[in-house]
Amino acid sequence: MPRDLICVYRAADMGEADIVAAWLDDQGIAVHIKNRHAAEMLQTPFIVAPKGIEVCVTDPQQADQAKTLVREHLQHRREKTAEPGRTIEAVCEECGKASRFPFEQRGTVQTCPHCRRYLDVPEA
Ligand SMILES: [Zn+2]
Repeated sequence: MPRDLICVYRAADMGEADIVAAWLDDQGIAVHIKNRHAAEMLQTPFIVAPKGIEVCVTDPQQADQAKTLVREHLQHRREKTAEPGRTIEAVCEECGKASRFPFEQRGTVQTCPHCRRYLDVPEA
């Protein structure tokens, strides 16, 4: 295992970590997923790891470049998914009615327009 690993991105799950790592690899940056073994031991790679999955670079000189690349990559992905006018459906746990919310509000807590209780807008 290489020394001096520098974490450039903390992914919520193994799937996301793999995507970021593969993408950095394509950009010519040597990456190492720090908690890969621990995550695989859980056998539920899509469950959120308590501390996240750290995507690290093995060459400290590439750390800044990698961080910038990841940031730009994620921003680009966000812009692609947040199409104007797109909405997401959320079903209220309290009254069971479905309502639509702007896509930008995904993963947030909003107020149900039917019963005015709190409602979780799903992530996707
Ligand atoms: Zn409701």
